[in-house]
Amino acid sequence: MENLISILKENGAKLTGPRKIILEKLSNSSRPLTLREIYYECGNIDFASVYRTLKLFNEVGIVEEINFADSKVRFELTSKKHHHHVICSECGEIKELPLCLLTEIEKITDYKITKHSFEFLGICPKCKN
Ligand SMILES: [Zn+2]
Ligand SMILES: [Zn+2]
Repeated sequence: MENLISILKENGAKLTGPRKIILEKLSNSSRPLTLREIYYECGNIDFASVYRTLKLFNEVGIVEEINFADSKVRFELTSKKHHHHVICSECGEIKELPLCLLTEIEKITDYKITKHSFEFLGICPKCKN
């Protein structure tokens, strides 16, 4: 978390109490969280502050927005090893996919890919049965 805090400082943003709590929530979470989940888990930080904090974290590049096909935006720290996700459309369980086709896509297209999204929606083994 130290490097995240120094990125904030480099961008002229102070690590206030609420920001620290939100950063810790994201850091301790094994899956991307929605704005509402972060808000509920952070206790007495008001919704607007959670929203502004996530926006700031996104602007300075320590948090990325992940868009699943379920149209909810989720947030995850960019410091985690690059990966993608599959989400269950029934129960909302999220699994990390430790793979990415970025370099293959660049090879096939000869593009320099600057932004990509590679998320899957499906039905988990539990819900399938
Ligand atoms: Zn499920
Ligand atoms: Zn990727």
